[in-house]
Amino acid sequence: MAETKKAVKKTQKDKDDILTKSVKKSVISTGGETKKVGNMSKMKILFVTSEAAPYSRSGGLGDVAGALPQQLNELGADTRIVTPLYSSIPSTLRQSMKFLGSTMVTLGWRRQYCGIFEHKSNGITYYFIDNEYYFKREALYGHYDDAERFAFFARAALDILPIVDFAPDVIHSHDWHSAMTPVFLNVFYRGIDRYKNIKTIFTIHNIEFQGKFDRCIIGDILGFDAQSERLVSYNGCINYMKGAIECADLITTVSESYAKEILNPYYAYGLENILNEKIDKICGVVNGIDIKLYNPETDNCLFEKFNAKTIDKKLENKKSLCELFNLPYDPNIPMIAMVTRLTAQKGIDLLVAVIDELLLAKIQLVIIGTGDWKYEMLLSDLEHKYSNKFEMIVKFNADLAQKIYGASDFILMPSRFEPCGLSQMIAMRYGTVPIVRETGGLKDTVQPYNKFEKTGNGFSFATYNAHDMLNTIWFALDTYYNDKEGFVNLRQRCLDTDFSWKKSAEQYLQLYKAL
Ligand code: ADP
Repeated sequence: MAETKKAVKKTQKDKDDILTKSVKKSVISTGGETKKVGNMSKMKILFVTSEAAPYSRSGGLGDVAGALPQQLNELGADTRIVTPLYSSIPSTLRQSMKFLGSTMVTLGWRRQYCGIFEHKSNGITYYFIDNEYYFKREALYGHYDDAERFAFFARAALDILPIVDFAPDVIHSHDWHSAMTPVFLNVFYRGIDRYKNIKTIFTIHNIEFQGKFDRCIIGDILGFDAQSERLVSYNGCINYMKGAIECADLITTVSESYAKEILNPYYAYGLENILNEKIDKICGVVNGIDIKLYNPETDNCLFEKFNAKTIDKKLENKKSLCELFNLPYDPNIPMIAMVTRLTAQKGIDLLVAVIDELLLAKIQLVIIGTGDWKYEMLLSDLEHKYSNKFEMIVKFNADLAQKIYGASDFILMPSRFEPCGLSQMIAMRYGTVPIVRETGGLKDTVQPYNKFEKTGNGFSFATYNAHDMLNTIWFALDTYYNDKEGFVNLRQRCLDTDFSWKKSAEQYLQLYKAL
């Protein structure tokens, strides 16, 4: 309690200082120079994640879990991944999996079967948790028993360790689906030799989704007594993410700005009090992207591959995309794209508020996204109204998404909040200039264009306001039409920005080592 009061009294500047210095200081004081990490005995890390590309992916988390472990291993770590064996995993990938054995996982009064399959790919060992009752479903999330499914998964990740014979130094779990791993570890496993020294790190990719459930799961599913219950109780319900914030040794978020923002009620979705209490163990590490996967020079999804020197081939991509979507092609008309989930987070409200004004301009608008039904319907209706300049694709389709990145001139991300955001980085890699709201990772990765100083790699606005967004789009279009040299140089700066995982992976390795 005393600690809480002390934390609450901290000024915003104190908080910023703590976030940027305290965790990093501890990293530095352990002598964690990046280059040394590779020379030491291999750091063993277990990623517990509900999605990992290319096996499963519903958004940024899948991308991160697909790319970061590879980069960590390239830096000398031994990173392995445990993830559910969803029925949606393509059979081509399933075929080469090896059955390692099985165990029974305890969930309250239940004993549930847990098969373990192994797959090695790109230097990474993946362990798949098999239980058809929990994971043979159409969608990854959104089922009536998600509390039970992901409690099972979080506990299975610990139970399989003796069977796969892996003794991690650090367990790194991600978002609410695997948030219970550090909690179960502290409640049930610390007395066992194999588990007693494992350190834990929990990354918040999106604080909006916390895994909040009715209290009735305490005994029935979690099997907790009153003392353990307090770890996951928050604001009258059970909150898996709060449990991880309590129990993990370190909390990270996916950008430095987001690490600061989530201390504020506007962004914290109710978790601000516990986060302010735990401020000393929070830090932000910005995501990267898989630059081998997202490479316009080798991307087979593109109509025409290109690089910085042959950037004009973007026009051929635009032409083919216009043909595909039945839009008129004009090389001089800028194409603005969104590749996004259609949720309130992504600022769709702002777009809808000014879309009539926006589409009066000489532009083409292409959106690919799925999500809230109301946005899907609204945007599909608008597409009929503006069929010669607006294409709305209500699909999650990676191939089309790449074609859109390759063909467009601008990517629009007016997010209400954005923990990191990958779309703006992928877009820039394809020479597509971002127009973003200054929040979270968008603020950290996009520097606003300054015509006079000739700096910046995009366009941005601060306030969550539709006309602020529109004015910024007008500035971007004005640059495109009337400041051609400025636009070409700006686009070149996008192409030159280093979004590889290397720097962030080095930071993660230092954090693991500090633990
Ligand atoms: P979030 O994780 O909040 O959805 P990010 O920008 O971090 O947002 O990551 C989104 C990822 O999902 C990017 O790789 C983006 O290209 C991809 N994506 C989003 N919507 C679609 C879609 N409709 N079809 C294909 N890929 C999509």
